[in-house]
Amino acid sequence: MATTSMPLLTVERLSKSFGAHQVLKSIDMTVAAGDVTCIVGPSGSGKSTLLRCLNYLEVPSSGAVFLEGEPVGLRWKGEKLYRMSFNELSMQRQRMGMVFQGFHLFPHKTALENVIEAPVVVKGVPKAQAIEEAMRLLDKVGLSERAHYYPAQLSGGQQQRVAIARSLAMQPALMLFDEPTSALDPELVGEVLAVMRQLAEEGMTMVVVTHEMAFARDVADHLVFMDGGVIVEAGPPRTVLGNPQHARTRAFLARVQ
Ligand code: ADP
Ligand code: MG
Repeated sequence: MATTSMPLLTVERLSKSFGAHQVLKSIDMTVAAGDVTCIVGPSGSGKSTLLRCLNYLEVPSSGAVFLEGEPVGLRWKGEKLYRMSFNELSMQRQRMGMVFQGFHLFPHKTALENVIEAPVVVKGVPKAQAIEEAMRLLDKVGLSERAHYYPAQLSGGQQQRVAIARSLAMQPALMLFDEPTSALDPELVGEVLAVMRQLAEEGMTMVVVTHEMAFARDVADHLVFMDGGVIVEAGPPRTVLGNPQHARTRAFLARVQ
């Protein structure tokens, strides 16, 4: 069980290679419950791969991720760790919501149907109860009036807010965001960041890969700068952004700020 001293998420010496290409090089990281961690860095630095390793969408080449002390994707049998069964893994994944750059909504389902899908199908929540909860979540992301719209009838910002509500419907312990605003027209970015900011204020634990430096500065408790598959620098955002210690961090910030 979680204790106050145990981080919600612990990443230990995590490495990932694709063939001969080592994309993550012994990453160590912890995320405390209620904290917002923003990951920034150049394209190709391994941010998405790291995020995907957190919920075992990518299988680490070595090292491990622990969610509330339990290894992700793996299970102890005696002294040894084995790959989880698909069912065990999907149970564990339910504790980590993930929101991607593209919204990945079911196109033939309304906003409401998208949000109730997993609770009803995966968790067996009674439909009436799932609808009530989904309406509460759609209201929270400012879309109760669009509950019966199809994705094609919604703007990108609205679709992404539905995607966030859909993740929240599974009551995850933490939320992972991979550049959630990168595919949006600039005028739609703010409405999605506002929802994420509200979630953060409510105490949701979040790991957010983003290029939105103002968001990172204002909302993150912890900022991680990655380059070339390593964490070059990490700390409170004001420290990392205001007084970067490494030339690579300074060069990146000069380009994005
Ligand atoms: P970022 O999200 O920081 O832009 P990625 O994690 O997407 O970086 O990618 C890091 C590196 O890993 C890139 O060089 C990319 O081409 C490579 N990569 C990512 N996924 C795969 C894959 N499935 N197969 C092979 N190479 C990959
Ligand atoms: Mg990426």
